[in-house]
Amino acid sequence: MNKKISAVYPGSFDPPTNGHLDIVNKSSCLFSKIIVAVTDNINKKYTFSLHKRVDLLQKSTKHLKNIRVVSFSGLLADYLGKINSFILIRGLRALSDFEYEFQLALMNRKLNKRIETIFLIPDQSYAFLSSSMVKEVAMLGGDTADFVPSCVEEELKKHFANLSKFHCEK
Ligand code: ADP
Repeated sequence: MNKKISAVYPGSFDPPTNGHLDIVNKSSCLFSKIIVAVTDNINKKYTFSLHKRVDLLQKSTKHLKNIRVVSFSGLLADYLGKINSFILIRGLRALSDFEYEFQLALMNRKLNKRIETIFLIPDQSYAFLSSSMVKEVAMLGGDTADFVPSCVEEELKKHFANLSKFHCEK
């Protein structure tokens, strides 16, 4: 792998999990620079604000020198053209991810034929992790310490404590 090439790792990161961070770690060893691009899609409802998702990723990757966390809205292919970076990193957990990720990779290449998608497989211990499952566990009062960095764990506790307070007060 050419160490002088940068790559973009896009995603919702709502919130970032240890699975996402495993992919960031792996890709930071393969490329000279990784741009973690946090999506802000107006058609999607996020649990955490864009600002919070960027902040949590910055905190959890600050030990890595070649990572930059940014946000973008609109078409990913347009964003890649704007920053002149055409390698996309995506994580592949299981067969269930494959169909969607395959379609997405082909669509991005159709939109701009310079775009190449590279799939990285997380360590086995993260293969079952998803942001939505972590939120479900946190919402039901479960311990998320093994699944997310500590800054995210704190944020999950705060978010779901506020929600349950709101429900009790109603
Ligand atoms: P999106 O809405 O773009 O799918 P996600 O934050 O859910 O955003 O995922 C971003 C990328 O990270 C996707 O390629 C997804 O497959 C990958 N990913 C999510 N969770 C994990 C995990 N536990 N291990 C490896 N890759 C993951």
